[in-house]
Amino acid sequence: MPQNSKDHRKTALEKLKRGQLDPQDQVSDNFRFYELTASQTASRNNVDNNFESDEQLRAAVYLARKVMQPIRDQFGRYSPNSVYRSQALERVLKSKPRSWISTSQHTLGCACDVEVAGVPTIELASWASENLPDGFDQIICECYDPAQGPNSGWVHISVLPPGGGRNRGNLLSYVRDRRTGRYVYVQGLRADAS
Ligand SMILES: [Zn+2]
Repeated sequence: MPQNSKDHRKTALEKLKRGQLDPQDQVSDNFRFYELTASQTASRNNVDNNFESDEQLRAAVYLARKVMQPIRDQFGRYSPNSVYRSQALERVLKSKPRSWISTSQHTLGCACDVEVAGVPTIELASWASENLPDGFDQIICECYDPAQGPNSGWVHISVLPPGGGRNRGNLLSYVRDRRTGRYVYVQGLRADAS
């Protein structure tokens, strides 16, 4: 570990507080604190994507330990596409007005979008649905299209932190409906909607 890095791999969630963690601090075996808020869109647009509450921070660390790390252990090195997203970042990403409030679980710190080079997206989703140690709230295989290659799309995974309620275990796909050309949500892991 680098000298400027503190080891928070085993720190209890309730002891973690905003302002006390440095970007390089280790929150699980292979993930550092900054990876939970990193966003190219945020830096490019000068949008603040720091945690707004300790609850969001703790939910994201829990997600790193219970979702991101088990996937790393199974499939090897990767960087999550996206973990926490502030309301401001959501508005930029989705081109919404200031009055709009996102209900995405990314804004609560409890969802991540993941893809691993060389691992078909639907396989990653399938593995996660069966192997995450504390289960999951939602897994959505998003925009996977075998015609575009096995790595097309990504997997959205959420897990509720302790005290955050019961995980629903919803398994969904967000895929193209070949008749209309539109993307729709369907139950289960599917490569298309028809
Ligand atoms: Zn997502």
